[in-house]
Amino acid sequence: MELLQSKDLPGKGSFSHGIHPPDNKSLSRDAAIEVVPTPKRVVLPLLQNIGVPSKSIVQPKKQVVAGEAIGVGEAFISTNLHSPINGVVENTGVCTLPNGRHLPAIYIKAEGEQLSGQALYEDVLGGPWPKDCPAIYYPSTISKAIHEAGIVGLGGAAFPTHVKVRPDDTKMIDTLMINGCECEPYLTNDYRVMLEAPGAIIAGALHGARAVSAREIIIGVEDNKPAAIERLKKEAEGTVIKIAVLKTKYPQGSEKQLIKAVLGLEVPLGGLPSDVGVAMSNVGTMAAIARGVIREKPLTHRVITVTGRGVSNPKNLLVPIGLSMQDAIDYCGGLTKDAARIIAGGPMMGFAFSNLSMPVTKGTSGITVLTHDDVRKENETSCVRCGRCVDVCPMQLVPTKLAMASRHGNLSLAHQYNIMACFECGCCTYVCPAHIKLVQLIRMGKAMVVASRK
Ligand code: SF4
Ligand code: SF4
Repeated sequence: MELLQSKDLPGKGSFSHGIHPPDNKSLSRDAAIEVVPTPKRVVLPLLQNIGVPSKSIVQPKKQVVAGEAIGVGEAFISTNLHSPINGVVENTGVCTLPNGRHLPAIYIKAEGEQLSGQALYEDVLGGPWPKDCPAIYYPSTISKAIHEAGIVGLGGAAFPTHVKVRPDDTKMIDTLMINGCECEPYLTNDYRVMLEAPGAIIAGALHGARAVSAREIIIGVEDNKPAAIERLKKEAEGTVIKIAVLKTKYPQGSEKQLIKAVLGLEVPLGGLPSDVGVAMSNVGTMAAIARGVIREKPLTHRVITVTGRGVSNPKNLLVPIGLSMQDAIDYCGGLTKDAARIIAGGPMMGFAFSNLSMPVTKGTSGITVLTHDDVRKENETSCVRCGRCVDVCPMQLVPTKLAMASRHGNLSLAHQYNIMACFECGCCTYVCPAHIKLVQLIRMGKAMVVASRK
């Protein structure tokens, strides 16, 4: 195990541009993960990943047990779906997600005995996690187990993990880069997993690296999380895993910025980490890989943060996929009187929503509730050409041009200014003195570009 400090890294532990917003992590950072009691029902949208929905393989009235497959990902970029509880399929219907998408979903009513409390915690995150067994598996066996388990990236993007870790003869992977930055303000779910289940992360990393035949395994953690660095370091003793200590800056956890900060490599515009020999995933996903491969258990639960001054008792929770946002918030004492905006995820990259019956999905990292004091009320004024949005854009884009092109539906201008390279980090909106909702406009423009291609 090697601890790599910023100055020793080829990328010097940071990237150009970006911002330093208040992190507000103290609201939930010290709250140990609590297991939410089994809800009366769970709602499982058939799309839990970037890509194609899975196909339901259950009918109403079918009895299911926790861990049983209820959906099959038939397409290449699709994942399997499993029931997180023992119960009965009530019906199949439609549900709406915070991003506004309406999706077919399976509704399961809880019935019978359930694994809960400490026993569930131990089953999902508890040790022991053997570190010496990756060698007994073929890479393809690990990749297949990850596929079977329906694992997606738990950092928020929800890209199917089996696609990332499949052995690929066309692209050699040198490095498995694991994202432990959790740079999004407010969220602390990854931090708690690093503190409480470092063994699962290390075991998952060793198995993931074997799946892609990576020579090097590096976990990147920002220097505002010294306790997590210490826990991972201790757990990684005797392994080849390196821990890179990075300078705290938003959006350090985005894949291109993390690769730049650690390895000093530029992922080409429109390219993927694999173009520079890197497979990228986050710490929570590693814990899911360990459970999927070693214990042969599918991804049915995840850790989320429920936080913000608009929640009575901010917490980190282990929840079944499909739990309603309302149930999660109720468990944390409900909303405060001055709650003003509820966001799926964190305030920089999340989506505001109002319907609390929406379910937690595999890609939900948290729920952040802002108060009236937290929410900016300023009205938009004209662009003053200050250039601040350009100064902070980590992708070196011209956000003001992209927003203007989106607002006027000028897709050729949007294309000319590389709108699809924007990964919606929100830095430009954060600094704009004219309060122009740049990222929202750019998001709309990207949707128009995608629609025009169909
Ligand atoms: S243009 Fe996109 S990538 Fe650049 S700062 Fe704005 S949201 Fe982030
Ligand atoms: S930060 Fe806002 S005001 Fe300044 S150039 Fe960009 S869009 Fe215009």
